[in-house]
Amino acid sequence: MAILIQLTRTQAACCMASDTTRFDFLVIGGGSGGLAGARRASELGATTAVIESHKLGGTCVNVGCVPKKVMWNAAVHAEYLHDHNDYGFDVGNVRFSWETLKAKRDTYVSHLNRIYRSNLDKAKIQTIQGHARFTNDPEPTVEVNGRKYTAPHILIATGGQPSVLSETEVPGASLGITSDGFFELETLPKRSVIVGAGYIAVEMAGILSTLGSKTSLIIRQTGSVDTDERGHIIVDEFQNTSRAGIYAVGDVCGKALLTPVAIAAGRKLAHRLFEGKKDSKLDYSTIPTVVFSHPPIGTVGLTEEEAIKSRGKENVKIYKTSFTPMYHAITSRKSQCIMKLVCVGKEEKVVGLHMQGLGCDEMLQGFAVAIKMGATKADFDKTIAIHPTSSEEFVTMR
Ligand SMILES: Cc1cc2nc3c(=O)[nH]c(=O)nc-3n(C[C@H](O)[C@H](O)[C@H](O)COP(=O)(O)OP(=O)(O)OC[C@H]3O[C@@H](n4cnc5c(N)ncnc54)[C@H](O)[C@@H]3O)c2cc1C
Repeated sequence: MAILIQLTRTQAACCMASDTTRFDFLVIGGGSGGLAGARRASELGATTAVIESHKLGGTCVNVGCVPKKVMWNAAVHAEYLHDHNDYGFDVGNVRFSWETLKAKRDTYVSHLNRIYRSNLDKAKIQTIQGHARFTNDPEPTVEVNGRKYTAPHILIATGGQPSVLSETEVPGASLGITSDGFFELETLPKRSVIVGAGYIAVEMAGILSTLGSKTSLIIRQTGSVDTDERGHIIVDEFQNTSRAGIYAVGDVCGKALLTPVAIAAGRKLAHRLFEGKKDSKLDYSTIPTVVFSHPPIGTVGLTEEEAIKSRGKENVKIYKTSFTPMYHAITSRKSQCIMKLVCVGKEEKVVGLHMQGLGCDEMLQGFAVAIKMGATKADFDKTIAIHPTSSEEFVTMR
């Protein structure tokens, strides 16, 4: 008589050698990419563990998108205060408390940390708290707090680190803080200097300045040259590293440093490894991005310059417009909205869409779907406008 012993998934994560615990899938880093990959792998039946040295949720939840968006929303309130009188509101003397905002934001982030932990528990994914280091064992193995763990598939999703200036580069640099430190500020600085011109620098500068800090942005002039001198892990299109059985996703790869990119890459990898979908890989083209500046910027696809470079000037047609959004009809404060469509070929396929103005952050996602599906200018023109909105300009451009 055959005796069938069915292991539960928790039991299946067993010890191989005396002190090495084995899983099907071991994920280093409990941020966007790591958690997405781990949860999808677990759904597909893999015994999975996530190793996290700090807080679950990674950069996005703790020192990135989420607390940043809270701060941006606060800055939007500050911006709209200027228009209250024009809309007939007398709000009197308005006082702003950075301390209240920080406390509420931190409480919200802690709440998210607990939700992430509970989601892992529900998915029967083991959370290992501590810093993972690869050992010298012949089989890829990592050590956390003196214990060893291994798996046939190990994912590195350890994110990135802020670049820190040295005293040699800029005297006094050691007095500065990084974007992580921004979220620890207990009071609004009277003056701020932000070094950098990436979206995070622009967003931080906008938040600080709108909330009342006298802010300057220092932009370095560069020569349009990308190198991998910052130590990003090189992966192929399937997220394979140079070592079999070890993969990397997210910011640690240094490409399209965005939460949804890390999530999508982690999930695609899980489908390839644990569902036999051999071709499962992330398409890194046409990724929509928003800069939460004031007003926000939305962009997807090729810039005008990129389109001309790849298709030739004669094959590129640009449509653009600029106008004052209707929100400002009765406000003395004005801001502009600018929009551009980049089209290529006889069929005028839309390969790029760029905009800056009120509401552009929420406008972009739908247009990104159309562009991903290969929409042409004629498709845009066939679409009935929604009036009165700013987005209607995209389907009425001539
Ligand atoms: C200020 C700021 C604002 C941002 N705003 C946006 C935005 O609006 N929209 C957007 O899409 N993206 C935004 N991003 C980018 C986004 O946060 C990242 O692209 C995303 O978090 C990357 O996910 P990841 O999984 O690669 O890494 P992370 O989320 O950074 O996760 C990596 C995790 O690995 C852990 N770890 C590292 N080394 C080890 C180790 N050896 N052992 C165990 N654990 C380890 C870390 O503690 C961390 O929790 C922002 C980033 C910053 C800094």
